[in-house]
Amino acid sequence: MSDLRSIVIIGAGECGICAALTLRDEGYTGEIALIHGEAVEPYEKPPLSKPGPDGISIKPISGTDRILRENIAVYHDQRVTEIDRTIKSVVLTNGEMISYDRLLLATGARPRALMIDGREIQQARLFRDFSDAKAFFDILAPDYRLTIIGGGFIGLELAAAARQRQVQTTLIESAPRLLGRAVPEALAARIEARHREEQVQFHIGQSISSISPTRKVTLADGTEIMSDIILAGIGSMPNMDLAEQCGLTIDNGIAVDACFRTSDPAIFAAGDCCSFPHALYGMKRMRLESWRAAQEQGAHAARAIIGSTGTYQSVPWFWSDQYDLTLQIAGLPSEGVTIVKRMLDDKSEILFHLDVEGRLVGASGLSRGNKIAKDIRLAEMLIAKRSHPDHQALADPKFNLKSLLNA
Ligand SMILES: Cc1cc2nc3c(=O)[nH]c(=O)nc-3n(C[C@H](O)[C@H](O)[C@H](O)COP(=O)(O)OP(=O)(O)OC[C@H]3O[C@@H](n4cnc5c(N)ncnc54)[C@H](O)[C@@H]3O)c2cc1C
Repeated sequence: MSDLRSIVIIGAGECGICAALTLRDEGYTGEIALIHGEAVEPYEKPPLSKPGPDGISIKPISGTDRILRENIAVYHDQRVTEIDRTIKSVVLTNGEMISYDRLLLATGARPRALMIDGREIQQARLFRDFSDAKAFFDILAPDYRLTIIGGGFIGLELAAAARQRQVQTTLIESAPRLLGRAVPEALAARIEARHREEQVQFHIGQSISSISPTRKVTLADGTEIMSDIILAGIGSMPNMDLAEQCGLTIDNGIAVDACFRTSDPAIFAAGDCCSFPHALYGMKRMRLESWRAAQEQGAHAARAIIGSTGTYQSVPWFWSDQYDLTLQIAGLPSEGVTIVKRMLDDKSEILFHLDVEGRLVGASGLSRGNKIAKDIRLAEMLIAKRSHPDHQALADPKFNLKSLLNA
């Protein structure tokens, strides 16, 4: 650590903030420059798609107030436009140059734009940051016709928020089912049913053939959907332009090792922008887009920057809230081949996902309210321990999973 005098962090999201504070927690006393590309104070992204009745407001990232007390130089509303690896410096929008001994890219991701016939559809709004969210909710009015393209988390959370505002909501998904990538079919079906109860109109397994300038959406089967607002929630792409420009290795994101170091030993990347090999899953390379992973990776990268060599082992964890439903996913359900179901009550269930050798690799739960939280937390600990739990114990809601931790 003694040779380090200047650390630059690009991006003051969940990952960048956590990295900056961890550097101080770990005793690093040199300069930290945190480049915050937005004009508003650093804020949490998950509440943007789950606004309460009062609408959108900024929820500061926890610890942001500490940033000011920790002698961290925050460059507000400034973006890094270039990284010069030969002289180890970054250039800001205002032309200022900042030198670094170590650099952390915590640049997050951006929404994928809707393309039809190779053309970007401008009528379809995108949703990622505070200004997108504010613009979207400011114009939503009861009885407006909203068409959401994409049945992933963002699309579904916004459908729920729109229905709570009496907006006529139609959702189009081209895949055969909702939440295809991340959520087991049984839970996705329950989520779809809940949206149908709330009168969301679905067109599933349907692709879009055109969108007119007046926002008429025409599906491949000829169905026409008139819309006042169209929103595309069709996934996101890592912000890796800077990394590409300066020649870092890219592989579904900025490629890093298990300590979040890029192909340049002086540069690290973490959070939504990076792909990393996960030790819990046989060093399989993955990119996570999750609030907690962004924090944990930021902290891990910070420790690696100042010399720690530990391998990242945190269990992936994600949640989504839609109406009164809470979904939580720990680990990677897609790595499992066997599912064991545990019904906590008639509305709360957890699916445990085990691999071919019987190792617990994921757990996914859905409940009204937060009844699944405790068991998901215990499942997370079992996944971290690489446990091979007994199926009957997992299935029995009266069995305390805690006792499996000592097995
Ligand atoms: C609407 C929404 C809802 C979500 N809901 C959930 C949820 O319910 N559960 C969950 O687990 N996760 C959720 N997520 C995901 C979670 O919020 C993200 O995984 C997390 O915010 C990623 O943090 P990050 O710091 O890596 O990136 P970000 O939060 O995207 O921060 C990156 C920052 O870097 C800045 N930046 C980029 N390039 C530059 C540059 N060149 N110069 C300067 N600054 C730059 C960006 O402007 C941004 O401020 C949600 C995300 C969104 C968008």
